[in-house]
Amino acid sequence: MQPQIILLKEGTEASQGRSQIISNINACQAIVDCVRTTLGPRGMDKLMVEAQGKATISNDGATIMKLLDVVHPAAKTLVDIAKSQDAEVGDGTTSVVLLAGEFLKQMKPFIEEGVHSQIIIRSVRRATHLAIQFINEIAIKPKKDDETELRQLLEKCAATAMSSKLINQQKDFFSKMVVDAVMLLDDLLPLNMIGMKKVPGGALEDTLLVAGVAFKKTFSYAGFEMQPKQYTNPTIALLNIELELKAERDNAEVRLESVEEYQKVVDAEWTILYDKLEKLHLSGAKVVLSKLPIGDVATQYFADRDMFCAGRVPDEDLKRTMKACGGSILTTVADLGDSVLGTCAHFEEKQIGGDRFNIFTGCPQAKTCTIIIRGGAEQFMEETERSLHDAIMIVRRATKNDAVVAGGGAIEMELSKHLRDVSRTIAGKEQMLISAIARALEIIPRQLCDNAGFDSTNILNKLRQKHAQGNRWVGVDILNEDVADNMEKCVWEPSLVKINALSAASEATCLILSVDETIKNPKSGEGPAPQGRPGARRPF
Ligand code: ADP
Ligand code: MG
Repeated sequence: MQPQIILLKEGTEASQGRSQIISNINACQAIVDCVRTTLGPRGMDKLMVEAQGKATISNDGATIMKLLDVVHPAAKTLVDIAKSQDAEVGDGTTSVVLLAGEFLKQMKPFIEEGVHSQIIIRSVRRATHLAIQFINEIAIKPKKDDETELRQLLEKCAATAMSSKLINQQKDFFSKMVVDAVMLLDDLLPLNMIGMKKVPGGALEDTLLVAGVAFKKTFSYAGFEMQPKQYTNPTIALLNIELELKAERDNAEVRLESVEEYQKVVDAEWTILYDKLEKLHLSGAKVVLSKLPIGDVATQYFADRDMFCAGRVPDEDLKRTMKACGGSILTTVADLGDSVLGTCAHFEEKQIGGDRFNIFTGCPQAKTCTIIIRGGAEQFMEETERSLHDAIMIVRRATKNDAVVAGGGAIEMELSKHLRDVSRTIAGKEQMLISAIARALEIIPRQLCDNAGFDSTNILNKLRQKHAQGNRWVGVDILNEDVADNMEKCVWEPSLVKINALSAASEATCLILSVDETIKNPKSGEGPAPQGRPGARRPF
């Protein structure tokens, strides 16, 4: 009789070995099935309802994955790659999840047959490496010095990114706007210099691009309507100061002997406020913005002196105004010199839909723009914002890194063919594994067909034949239930999207295949920890 050794707390669950890998793969498959139908121009959208009843309608892989609230430790990897694809390139988030799921699915029979996961991992890495190399070889690089050609390229990439979204009917309108927006930025193309505002009402086509900062009119007091609403070359003061007479705190206690003393306290408060206001007036500032409230006294004071003011400006907007117009956000008005005040060519308060907007254009310091999204339902505008975000990310990427490939499954079919060709020159198990990866890549055109209601077997056979004949850019033609040269059809995607998707999917695959043990400790609080090392075995 061996003495029993207890290593882990009672109630700890552990599963290990091959069956663990298989069960992880199955869990990932279930996640993939959630997003499968959203791929492509004919993809469906998902309506996600959160605990508080907030509903989100989305087609974006990353958004759906984020809202799914996955608890399975291995399946969480897929959520992570969708998020990282979103952060890195912005588009291709559904594709990356789908690819990872399909890689795993194709590798499952090998695991079941007892091929060691390290061998599989090595082959997956090798296949990915070969595929990425091949993308770089065949990607098309249009001439960058030609302005119109570059613009065309960018517009097409943006249109492809948007063709799978709710707003695909308006993609020509929006692709121009997105390219304009990115062109307005400076060389570094900082994403936070593109503001997005949503105003309910109006048609989608009423969405407008402002070449400057714009934000919604803030809460204002009486006297506001007397202030001018338009300036040319105004000086702008940005504050983090309250310009308001404060109500006493409930628990404050001031002991006074006489009415005169009370009057002094009141006067002191007014003097402090008037002192601040006077300094602002003397500095020559015409527009005063503050993160904190600006009260009725101050509003009236400014109105009497033909100045404009807005209090409770959201932090993000105030910062963007500062970056665009110069100056700094002040916490005191003691020293109001030119160096701390900003300026812009034109300021205006304008009616847009049911809201009034403060608009600053011709900003000297940083280049910035704001997209004011119009539309019906709140959820619709939110999805529009996400779709525009995808497109903006794509245009930013394409401006920096302008190689493109054809979408609609064309590049995946070509990669699949390439890998199959290469696998024939390799001896041993790797041959099988690499051709399995080649098969896995076909999931993208297959799913595009399935989602559009096409006969996927038929179309895939046609695609294989065309690619074998050397028609490199033939992909699914969504409009005609057929195959077509997607390079000519202008379904273009930056090669970076595909490269990133492939490497992220392969990383996730390798990670999941390398985990052969999960130990769940019920008492260790949040979340069970997946264990990758085979060292911590439990001797039962
Ligand atoms: P992701 O989140 O991966 O970007 P999408 O739902 O945006 O998912 O779908 C992208 C896929 O749809 C890509 O493979 C792309 O090539 C394909 N696609 C986009 N527009 C078209 C089109 N007009 N014809 C065929 N395929 C298209
Ligand atoms: Mg997309």
